[in-house]
Amino acid sequence: MNREQMKVILDKIKAYEKIIIFRHKRPDGDAVGSTKGLCEILKLTYPEKQIYIINNDYSDFTGFLGGEDEARPDEFYADALGIVIDTATIDRVSNPKCALCKELVKIDHHIDRTPYGDVSWVEEEKSSACEMIADFYAAFSDELKINSAAATYIYAGMVTDSGRFRFRSVTGDTLRAAAMLLDQGIDTDTLFANLYMKEFHTLKFQAHVYKKMKISPAGVVYLYIDRAMQKKFKLTSEQASASISYLESIKDSLIWLVCIENGDGTARVRLRSRFVTINELAERYNGGGHACACGATVHNKKEFKALVNDADALLQDYKANHEGWL
Ligand code: AMP
Repeated sequence: MNREQMKVILDKIKAYEKIIIFRHKRPDGDAVGSTKGLCEILKLTYPEKQIYIINNDYSDFTGFLGGEDEARPDEFYADALGIVIDTATIDRVSNPKCALCKELVKIDHHIDRTPYGDVSWVEEEKSSACEMIADFYAAFSDELKINSAAATYIYAGMVTDSGRFRFRSVTGDTLRAAAMLLDQGIDTDTLFANLYMKEFHTLKFQAHVYKKMKISPAGVVYLYIDRAMQKKFKLTSEQASASISYLESIKDSLIWLVCIENGDGTARVRLRSRFVTINELAERYNGGGHACACGATVHNKKEFKALVNDADALLQDYKANHEGWL
């Protein structure tokens, strides 16, 4: 925990009447949970302040965790403190108007390749941005207020970004923060029902994924999802993207990839791995991310195949020089 950096951020929050909170595009549970959680804590603690969450795109998580505030004109931002959470680079922020804020704070747990903001608090080893928001609350619990709604948002982000507390970034501190949140009274039945329920046609798609997935010589499992497949199974791009998780537990396949056509001449690649570090691979294809979870962008099937070949070479090299993987 970095109390000094947190104190600088708390002082900024105290100094402003208007605070606008932002997150990344295509929001996941951590992006929505951390922004909604901080917003709720600040609204409870400072009822006299104007606190907003204003973004440009939404997802299932903005659906079940609740809405955000409506778009505002440029001049609305000029006297505000902006707080961007869970977003490594400024171009990934959902609402580019964050740059119009008087000052900008960055709170993030991704690799800090291109820092931004007037104040930056980045802890790359944290399991989620939500864990950082929980730490922020805990550091100043004598003056900040929390309730079960705020705790639910933050807990939802911690649960989803840590693979249900499974990833190696999860520490004793993570679980102590989660315990503190549970003590606020979270309806975990409803939360997990929202996280696990699947549509009938989504399960049909899952069966199709297992039929179509391919494996490279070294064991990279991959799948290309074109527009026709998305149409056939009536998938949103988010549902198509979720297929990355179907490929995660295949023995000897330490790297797995899905490529989803966007319909605008680009395709989104999601990259995941066990043991092997893949962010440098993602960076070669207009992407980046964490050591074992990355995103990238390609422009056609041929470029995706090149990425698969590079992943295959990486995995072959890893297997030749390491033991104990599975
Ligand atoms: P995703 O597959 O979208 O869940 O992304 C996995 C991780 O990689 C997330 O932490 C993202 O922040 C990061 N990431 C995804 N796409 C990109 C990109 N184009 N450039 C840099 N980082 C990315």
